[in-house]
Amino acid sequence: EAKHKGKSAYARFTPEMSEVSHERLQMESHMRKALELGEFELYFQPIVDTASGGLVAAEALLRWNNPAMGMVMPDRFIPLAEETGLIIPIGEWVVKEACQAAYCWQAMTGREISIAVNVSPRQFRDPGFTDAIMRALNDSNLRPELLELEITERLILDNSIETADILKQLDKVGIRLSVDDFGTGYSALSYLKSYPFDTLKIDKSFVQDVLKENEDASLVRAIINMAHSLGLKVVAEGVEEEDLTHFLKAEHCDYSQGYFYSRPLPEQDFIHWLETNERANLK
Ligand code: C2E
Ligand code: MG
Ligand code: MG
Ligand code: MG
Repeated sequence: EAKHKGKSAYARFTPEMSEVSHERLQMESHMRKALELGEFELYFQPIVDTASGGLVAAEALLRWNNPAMGMVMPDRFIPLAEETGLIIPIGEWVVKEACQAAYCWQAMTGREISIAVNVSPRQFRDPGFTDAIMRALNDSNLRPELLELEITERLILDNSIETADILKQLDKVGIRLSVDDFGTGYSALSYLKSYPFDTLKIDKSFVQDVLKENEDASLVRAIINMAHSLGLKVVAEGVEEEDLTHFLKAEHCDYSQGYFYSRPLPEQDFIHWLETNERANLK
């Protein structure tokens, strides 16, 4: 066993790999300082009511502006932040900023706009997780019902008692819970019945091919119907084309999100979008 381990460790140590790990180490050291240096920024993407096109919520999407690396997208750094545990302080910052922003928009517009925040497994399993969420709500004065936590199936499917307890605790205070990237995990649908979810977000990989592939249209239709019969709302992710909005309307998909409505925007641009969209909807 020890011999085997030693051998595989040796075999892994190729020049290309050491280059990769050098890059990772550098990224990790940059990331350790990024919070202090204020390099993280939240972008906001509108989530609209499919029938009316009116704004109902925004999803907070993390961006990392690093002088050496430029704008780093989450798929490039979230996995490393998870591995190193840095996702815990970073995630805390995200939920705090997101709640403050949503409260601000409410004060500005007199309208309640929900804020959806992504939660990674490592962050969710941290013992301080629920306290951090409660602190963000208290400090911002945002109503818990306006905070929506997006959780992936990967996390739910560990089926642990702790997962169930935390979800129950969050649900009890009124926080909304959604399943992100629905359909991409090994869906054991029974969790939908036993956990207090409010919303399913259909993964964009299904949504985007709805007009090209009959199978995807059938799947999306089936997911919407199943969700509704379980009392859940549905968000279609990755809506890029107008034709798709007709399909989603016809199928009674509650909410939509995607480039057709807007890309994720820096906060100032989001506020501008919000004001323009509101005016358009009053006409
Ligand atoms: P997600 O939560 O599924 O977020 C949706 C992703 O789809 C976002 O990518 C968004 O920009 C992209 N998207 C939205 N509309 C469209 C569309 O019409 N077409 C296409 N092709 N893409 C669209 P982004 O911002 O790069 O984020 C990627 C993932 O990173 C997120 O997927 C989420 O899992 C993760 N992430 C982002 N912010 C955070 C965060 O604060 N914490 C954690 N733990 N994860 C985050
Ligand atoms: Mg999400
Ligand atoms: Mg609930
Ligand atoms: Mg998603």
